[in-house]
Amino acid sequence: MSQHHRRTKHTTASPKIRAAIEARLPLPCIEGCGRLVERGQAWHVAHIQAASQGGRTTLANCGPAHARCNLTGGGKMGAAVTNSARRAAKGRRAW
Ligand SMILES: [Zn+2]
Repeated sequence: MSQHHRRTKHTTASPKIRAAIEARLPLPCIEGCGRLVERGQAWHVAHIQAASQGGRTTLANCGPAHARCNLTGGGKMGAAVTNSARRAAKGRRAW
């Protein structure tokens, strides 16, 4: 129960899902950056199939994405859209 957890209002996924994923780390980043998400890194729960495409917030449909990958929408699936992260993408578009 670290204090910073209290400030994390960013709850797209349930804490249970996050905990279950965290227990399995390291896992490949589902944003497709080709690297592993490891414990201790900043990572988010992201949808494998985007919620906008009918993906549900279940353990089977969620996986870890680096915070950076998730916020920049770095991958193929646009998971950032489901995480209301767009405001964080202040002009950092590399594409
Ligand atoms: Zn990544």
